[in-house]
Amino acid sequence: MRFFCWFLSLIPVLACGQRQEFFHPQMGTLFQVILYAEDTVQGKAIAQELFDRIDTLNAIFSDYLENSEINRISASAGTGQKIKVSTEMWRLIAVSQRVSRKSDGAFDLSIGPLSKLWRRAFRQTQFPALAEIKTAKEKVNYRFIQRYPLTKKIRLTKAGMRLDAGGIAKGFAVDECFKILRKAGVSSALVAAGGDIRVGAAPPDKAAWTIASKGLNEKGETVDVELSLKREAVSTSGDTYRFLDWEGQRYSHIIDPRTGLGIQHRQFSRLAGPRSTLADALATAINVLKAEDRKILMKKFSRYTLEVYESKD
Ligand code: ADP
Ligand code: MG
Repeated sequence: MRFFCWFLSLIPVLACGQRQEFFHPQMGTLFQVILYAEDTVQGKAIAQELFDRIDTLNAIFSDYLENSEINRISASAGTGQKIKVSTEMWRLIAVSQRVSRKSDGAFDLSIGPLSKLWRRAFRQTQFPALAEIKTAKEKVNYRFIQRYPLTKKIRLTKAGMRLDAGGIAKGFAVDECFKILRKAGVSSALVAAGGDIRVGAAPPDKAAWTIASKGLNEKGETVDVELSLKREAVSTSGDTYRFLDWEGQRYSHIIDPRTGLGIQHRQFSRLAGPRSTLADALATAINVLKAEDRKILMKKFSRYTLEVYESKD
């Protein structure tokens, strides 16, 4: 084994090395990085690079930061202005629009007016006024996001629009981390952002990564399960932790753009495939869609697999 490590280090691929773990709070979650690097100094430097990248992406995509790029774009809505965007923003919008088209609008990056309304509803434990839902809903439509590929400019055609990357930004950040890891020659790594997890090659001494996830027991209650993964992204999405209980109904922070309401069915889903960005966005779309439409959507993303759990607790 020692000889094997020495041999590989000449390639140079750090397939062997010490297991190192790092944490970084960002994007409303805790990023976890596990990597195998030759020494701790090198591992620490790589982790720092990942966390710097995540911070940069947060400054672009966070709608909680007044001066983020996403908020500057939203501020231009309805003015007729075309806004030049960063390559990161351009790429995120491109994936979002693809998922929106394929899911018939179940995923919608322009969900902002509705998510803002529902965030307030969660804070105040108060169902929003129906008139407010209606007004917000009229500003939500991915078709109002116009793209100009030659100049990499964006125009939001309707006044009051707001972009919200909450359903895709964590997955995007995880994929960006993997680009850095690949460049650094680290093949065995895990990056997790809450329910969005991606792993590379198995740890040097193991056949796969073991990941804690959720499943159901025979009574239909949510229980912890273990997954074995390598070179795969997995996104778990569902109503397990953020929702509003109102008059006996539970409304999730995942919103159906067509009704303007937080989804009410008790379920969570797990999307697996090569990339976290798509897994994250698809998981959000899947939660909005009905069973037949989920099947139609998944057929369009043949490298991704879906498991849905209807929870009863
Ligand atoms: P979960 O971790 O429960 O899967 P995510 O954090 O991935 O949820 O996505 C939920 C977030 O996505 C919401 O907080 C909101 O910001 C945004 N969002 C809600 N509904 C939609 C939707 N229909 N399309 C796109 N983004 C959405
Ligand atoms: Mg998600």
